[in-house]
Order: sequence, then structure tokens, then C-alpha cells
Amino acid sequence: MFDHPSFDGHEGVHAFHDAATGLKCVIAVHSTALGPAAGGCRMWNYPTGDAMLTDVLRLSQGMSYKNAMAGIPLGGGKAVIWGDPRSGKSPELFRAFGRAVQSLAGKYYTAEDVGVDVSDMAIVREETRFVAGLDEGAAASGDPSPVTANGVYLGIREVARRVFGTDDLNGRTIAVQGVGSVGGYTCDHLAEAGAKLIITDIDQEALSAVAKRTGARTVAPDEIYDVDADIFSPNALGAVINEKTLARLKVKGVAGGANNQLVVPEMGEFLRRKGILYAPDYVINGGGIINVAAEISGSYSRDWVEATLARLMVTLGDVLDEALRSNQPTNYVADRIARARIAAARRA
Ligand code: NAD
Repeated sequence: MFDHPSFDGHEGVHAFHDAATGLKCVIAVHSTALGPAAGGCRMWNYPTGDAMLTDVLRLSQGMSYKNAMAGIPLGGGKAVIWGDPRSGKSPELFRAFGRAVQSLAGKYYTAEDVGVDVSDMAIVREETRFVAGLDEGAAASGDPSPVTANGVYLGIREVARRVFGTDDLNGRTIAVQGVGSVGGYTCDHLAEAGAKLIITDIDQEALSAVAKRTGARTVAPDEIYDVDADIFSPNALGAVINEKTLARLKVKGVAGGANNQLVVPEMGEFLRRKGILYAPDYVINGGGIINVAAEISGSYSRDWVEATLARLMVTLGDVLDEALRSNQPTNYVADRIARARIAAARRA
């Protein structure tokens, strides 16, 4: 454990097994310096236990950085359940997971992630109150995607302002990959601002619906990297910025909501060398966790969410400015600020 390449000083890594339900899960608590650790629960059929451990350690460290940049009083953590979300779910399994979360006594708050939805979290809630992303309850925050998308839209404007000298998107061409929850709402904002949209998705129904309401031009999934556009907005998968796609991109900025867009951190430097300004993913997509933080606080306030999102956009602007000023990759600048914020909270 302590020699694992992704261990990164985790405060705690907790493995749980429940014989009755077959639950195997790991809850990783990277840091509670800024507050209780918060991050979603992923259910995935990992090939090995080591793959599961690597995933949870990386994800929980990522949540520490995301929460630190969002300026919310939460640390970073994540849970993974080993199993196939299509065949392995049962209410008993999620109750057992809820008891695991409860045993950490508030050190970690859980929520939905890949393979886990709001109905699963409603079952988890029967065993623990340390859960967010619920549809019902006094402070329920519901779907975080609209807030995430609002942040992505505002972040695209921050990038545009630095690259084109104005954040007016009227007439700018934005290539959007993935028009699901986050991508779809982002397209609505962009269309309203007068941007020309080129969109793609593997889901034809979602693609047609967004094209119809925004007037976007559609392209096949693989063509999105080759289009003539000003900004590329990835809102589907991770690792979409890699050597192959970078060679094809003609844009001046990359700004989207997808997690883990860079296949390796070094891609940040390659983007910089190509003159592409990259909005670090975990900064621009922090709107959703801000929404969740409002729920965890116990009294959801739309005003607080909007004010905190506005502050996050100032932080994003600071990251971009510092990177441009010092000729550094934006993701390295963001990592450094996040680590400094966590270290300062730990000292305090
Ligand atoms: P979603 O499932 O609603 O949307 C994803 C869309 O991407 C789907 O329409 C899917 O068909 C499409 N897609 C999948 N593979 C594709 C491909 N190869 N090419 C084009 N389109 C493809 O998910 P979402 O909630 O909108 O999340 C999108 C991304 O944003 C994810 O990476 C997620 O981790 C990240 N994110 C989401 C939130 C949130 O609030 N929902 C917050 C932070 C980060």
C-alpha cells in the first residue's frame, strides 16, 4: 500500500468486504485538511484488485485538488465498488456499502459516480447520512449537471478572453464532444451566446435533440478533432487529449467538462507548445461538486452555489494568467495551487 505509485500520502485507504452480499469496496480518503472528504462512488468491473486500488487512489487525490480549487470546505475522497453495475446491483449491496460509509463516521461523504445513480444513493441513505446527490430531503441538490455546464460555459469564455481578446462568443465556433447532461446544457448556453456549434455524440438521439434545439452542425464522433473551430469542448470521455488527437486539433483553446482529459499530465506541456490554451478539467468542471457541497452543508442555497461558482471562475482565470505569464502548462499551475491550498489548511 505505502509503496503504491498512486498512494500520494493518503490519510486512509479502507477496504470493506461483506460476505452476505459479496460487497467488495474500497473507500480512499486522500485528505481531510479542508473538511470531510467528498467524492462519488464508482461501480466498475475491474480486471484486478490492483486496478481497482489504482483507480480509487487517483480519483480520490483528484477530488482533493478539485475541491481545493473550488474553495469549498471539503477534502478529497472516493469509493469504488468492485462489480458489474448492469448485473451486480442489489439493495442489500448498497445497504452494506452505506454501513461501510457510516463506519467512517463522517470522514467521507459519498455520492453518485459512473455506474451508480440517484436511486442507489437513496438506498445508501437508509444506512448513513453521509451521502449527497439525493433527489429528496431537506437540502437535496438533485442533478449537478446544469451547474457543471454553467461553469463550463463561463470557463470557455475565460479561455476565449485570453486567446481572442474578448469573451464575446457571438460568431465563434465551438466543437463539442458529447452532448449528454453536461455537454447538452453547455450547448444551450453557447447557442444563446451566439456561438456556432459543431457537435458529436455516439448517441444519435441525444445528438439530434441538441442539434435541433441549438441549430448545431453534427459530425461523426471521430471527425470532431479535425473540424475548423476556435475552441474544443470535451464533455464525454477521459484521455481524449493524446498524441494522436493533438496532432489533428486546429483550435486555440480546450475547455470542457469531461474528467481526466489529458492522457498523461505531460500533454499539458504539448498543448502549450502548440499554442492551445487548456482549461484544467478539474477546475472548469467544479460546478457539480459546488452544488453537492451546498447539500452537504445542510441548507442548500442557490445564491451560495452561484457565488462560489463565480469565485471558481476567478481562480480559473488566475491559473490561465499565471500559466501564460510564466510559460508553464496550465495543469501544472493548477496542481501547484491546489497542493498549496491543501498544505496551508493542514498547517492551520
Ligand atoms: P452523460 O453520460 O450524460 O454524457 C456523456 C455523453 O458522452 C453521452 O451522451 C455519451 O453518449 C457521449 N459519448 C460517449 N462516448 C462518446 C464518444 N466516443 N464520442 C462522443 N460522445 C460520446 O455524462 P455527463 O454527466 O454529461 O458527464 C460528461 C463528462 O463530464 C464525464 O467525463 C463526467 O465525468 C464529467 N463530469 C460531469 C459532471 C456532472 O455534473 N455531471 C461533473 C464533473 C465532471
